[in-house]
Amino acid sequence: MTLAAAPSLQPGFGFGGVLRDTLPEPLRDAAPPIRTAGEDEAWMLETLRTAMTHNGLSDPNPVVGCVIVRDGRVISHGATERIGERHAERVAVEAVADRSAFRGATAYVTLEPCTMCAAAISFARIRRLYYGAADPKGGAVDSGVRFFASPTCHHAPEVYSAVGENEAATLLKEFFRVRR
Ligand SMILES: [Zn+2]
Repeated sequence: MTLAAAPSLQPGFGFGGVLRDTLPEPLRDAAPPIRTAGEDEAWMLETLRTAMTHNGLSDPNPVVGCVIVRDGRVISHGATERIGERHAERVAVEAVADRSAFRGATAYVTLEPCTMCAAAISFARIRRLYYGAADPKGGAVDSGVRFFASPTCHHAPEVYSAVGENEAATLLKEFFRVRR
């Protein structure tokens, strides 16, 4: 699958605006103002879409999305499974049988990966990781054990955090608001 909208992205493309339309009225003010999105933000939007299409399937966990991109194409995607089962990143990594497909690949995740998912990303030797919202409680990249900085980690991707952070955080906020 390729990101069909990417070539036509124009200044003023509303990364927040797109999500704003999908949110219930009271939350629309939480969506960020419309602004220009770069390629990485467009992929993160695709990752958020992946999460949103699985909304409710991972209860009581919030749904997290992961998209793995190589050479401008999605090679794999995943969303959190039911509680006790796999997280989005593991679903996406394990969907690809040939590990060489990950060479030079970029993983986009809506939430900071946990220790197990960071390990899966490291093992797959994924080159870059972009994540949206930080997870101070369960995250293991910039929070907690900081997996990629640990001596037992043999491959650390380049990490870019807070890409589409507002949108990812809004999605999580909405999940918990509906459940309350
Ligand atoms: Zn995880």
